[in-house]
Amino acid sequence: APALLCFRDDLRLGDNPALTAAIDAGGPVLAVYVLDEESDGVRPLGAAARWWLHQSLSSLRAQLAAIGIPLLLRRGRADSVIAGLAAESGAMSVFWNRRYGLAERTVDAALKSELRAAGVTAQSFAASLLFEPWTVSTGSGAPYSVFTPYWRRLIALPEPRLPLPTPAGPGAADAAAAAGFAATLAGDELDAWELQPSRPDWAGGLRASWQPGEASALRLLREFLADALPRYEAERDVPAEQATSRLSPALRWGEISPHTVWHETVRVRNAAAAASGGSSPLASAATAFLRQLAWREFAAHVSFHAPDLGRVNWRREFDGFEWPPLDSAALGAWQRGRTGVPLVDAGMRELWTTGTMHNRVRMVVASYLCKNLLIDWRHGEEWFWQTLVDADAASNAFNWQWVAGSGADAAPYFRVFNPLLQQQKFDPHGEYVRRHLPEWGTPDYPEPLVDLAESRRAALAAYERLRRR
Ligand code: FAD
Repeated sequence: APALLCFRDDLRLGDNPALTAAIDAGGPVLAVYVLDEESDGVRPLGAAARWWLHQSLSSLRAQLAAIGIPLLLRRGRADSVIAGLAAESGAMSVFWNRRYGLAERTVDAALKSELRAAGVTAQSFAASLLFEPWTVSTGSGAPYSVFTPYWRRLIALPEPRLPLPTPAGPGAADAAAAAGFAATLAGDELDAWELQPSRPDWAGGLRASWQPGEASALRLLREFLADALPRYEAERDVPAEQATSRLSPALRWGEISPHTVWHETVRVRNAAAAASGGSSPLASAATAFLRQLAWREFAAHVSFHAPDLGRVNWRREFDGFEWPPLDSAALGAWQRGRTGVPLVDAGMRELWTTGTMHNRVRMVVASYLCKNLLIDWRHGEEWFWQTLVDADAASNAFNWQWVAGSGADAAPYFRVFNPLLQQQKFDPHGEYVRRHLPEWGTPDYPEPLVDLAESRRAALAAYERLRRR
């Protein structure tokens, strides 16, 4: 009987514990990816994410084929589809890597009991986070709600496990048997899922900016560590520079594991420290990068303990904040990059064209939406969800709430980013702005939509009313 291996947010062969375990079970392995847009509470993927998924799955399918594992594509409710496939194929064991969203955990728990009821073993593994959310807690056993103590705790814990090697795959006879099983089972064509836009095809900017897949993720990591890490501390906030890793979509889709990123970085840090006989600028940059990786862990941790983070204010007292009625025209101007504030508009254009936005600029556009346009952060979160290739339920919601002031570890609400000062500070020569906003300074460029000082005052007054209630 074949072993069944379920891929989800772990589209890689290297450091993939479920894959390794399925192969080690010793027999043919059938892989499946289920596009689940039906299970309760599972949020349908945004448009840019769907584009990424298409590329990543076709790359994964080729990688798996090369080691003798067929990848079946099916859609529907993941629990019934996988339980059904186990029955059809006669699989007696099913393997997957764990997910941490509430809806996803509910699906996986239902699947596990369905399988067990049918006498099929189900095994799940930790693969997508360095520290599973429930394994980190304060001295009193509570979840963390502030990053710095969380980070201090992480670095006091034993190092995350080492990455697993990329497996060679099942033997030739098992590979042939797996192909035989796959031939008798129905599966979808990837194209039939229509994950890529066709009419119109707006993905040109994504294709020009990204190459999804594991090989490319590993290359990005190597290039980052060799070329950009030395500049990371000084330039990571400068959006015109390529001083960050650009690994967020690869981490989101699991094309690379955080363990691989962590240990490769630690290797560089230790080598730098050894060469300099102690601390060195490169070692310090490596630590700064590891700390950034820990923000991803922290977002997952907070979101695990507050699973409706994408919809509900983490600070419930923020529910009383008086958002004015939604100004759809203002929201549209923000989405299209027509607010008349250059750094905001450049960021929104970068997002629309390339499916990403520099972290510094994400903070600025989010602050502008909530605190100058006085638009509820949920509208911004949803737009990012649709347009980011790295759209991640935990990181996106966590960061939106962090900027809005309703979230964990939030800066006080009254810390409003001034987008003009931010531009002076982080893009002083306008290099980033001009790159994404060619009409800046021409008559085509709009006047500011709102007065920055006045709108900031209105936001602070609304906050003050909330505080006094
Ligand atoms: P690097 O600086 O190279 O950092 C390395 C890795 O650390 C990143 O790839 C990412 O996985 C992680 N990381 C860094 N900063 C953060 C952070 N603040 N929160 C969580 N993880 C972080 N990141 C997402 O992955 N998905 C999102 O949906 C997302 N939405 C965001 C929304 C807003 C409003 C803001 C302000 C930030 C958001 N971020 C999100 C975080 C951050 O902007 C991106 O992770 C980062 O820009 C990715 O670029 P990089 O890979 O070059 O980062």
